[in-house]
Amino acid sequence: MRVSQIGEFGLIDRLGRFQNLTARVIKGIGDDAAVLRYHVQRHQLLTTDMLVEGVHFLRSMPAEKIGRKALACSLSDIAAMGGVPTIAVVSLGIPKDLTVRYIDKMYAGMLRLARVFGVSLAGGDTVCSAKITINVALLGEVERTRLVCRDGARIGDEIFVSGPLGGSLKSGRHLTFTPRIREARFLVGHFKPTAMMDISDGLAGDLGHILKASGVGAVLMMNAIPVNHGVTLRQALTDGEDYELLFTLAKPVARRLQSRFPNKFFAIGEIVSKKDGLRLMDNVGKSQPLNLRSFAHF
Ligand code: ADP
Ligand code: MG
Repeated sequence: MRVSQIGEFGLIDRLGRFQNLTARVIKGIGDDAAVLRYHVQRHQLLTTDMLVEGVHFLRSMPAEKIGRKALACSLSDIAAMGGVPTIAVVSLGIPKDLTVRYIDKMYAGMLRLARVFGVSLAGGDTVCSAKITINVALLGEVERTRLVCRDGARIGDEIFVSGPLGGSLKSGRHLTFTPRIREARFLVGHFKPTAMMDISDGLAGDLGHILKASGVGAVLMMNAIPVNHGVTLRQALTDGEDYELLFTLAKPVARRLQSRFPNKFFAIGEIVSKKDGLRLMDNVGKSQPLNLRSFAHF
């Protein structure tokens, strides 16, 4: 059997068989970051994200932005858990003919973003490879009471996103997005999301991960989904690399958030029973199953 036959998520499910968790690990595979027992009041978070030339970026793109993106993707996963990022290590695969100047620029871009979020760049690994590869492993911390996972969405909760979706690759936004650390910290401090993740593979598929983990279904309202300029609804549902937060809130909390920040967080639908699956409701209140595929590597 080839990887393309089981797909990216089929493969990850399979790799779960090789997961061995000591008592320190509260959450392993299945969320945006692993959750580790650490301190009476705080958990540690650990995530890793890899960018490969030709898949996530082209060598012709500005090196500063590529370095920046490598860290930003990991920061986004720490945000998705409600945490604060702390320390990163960076592994590089570098083709022999790449200029040192290019690598300096990648690191300058990474360092600038690390400083913005108070993250230490504290080591890494360097090897020779055919394509430029950058992996950022990142630690974070979150107060136990503020941790938000993918499995807490409940029937009746409202679904939100933190910004407009779609067209990230075409517009170049995937290289310049701001990871939603501040927004996530604000939410977990004042509004207690029941579930949260970052949208890296597209709203339709990523919401599917929250639904699966929480054992629920959802109805999205077509006319409520914020869409980037020049982007179709279908692209907003499937494009990916948005790195906005996708989260759920109990109704009374949702109303409070909406009345106070109507232009910052967008209510896009509601959590329903698992048997209803994922549905998209049109402007006249008719809904149909939403079966769009999001980005997957295989
Ligand atoms: P994200 O897009 O949030 O970075 P991914 O889609 O990369 O998340 O991964 C989803 C989940 O699968 C995560 O919990 C991650 O730890 C796990 N995962 C991904 N790749 C592997 C792997 N090679 N081995 C074990 N777990 C993996
Ligand atoms: Mg994620």
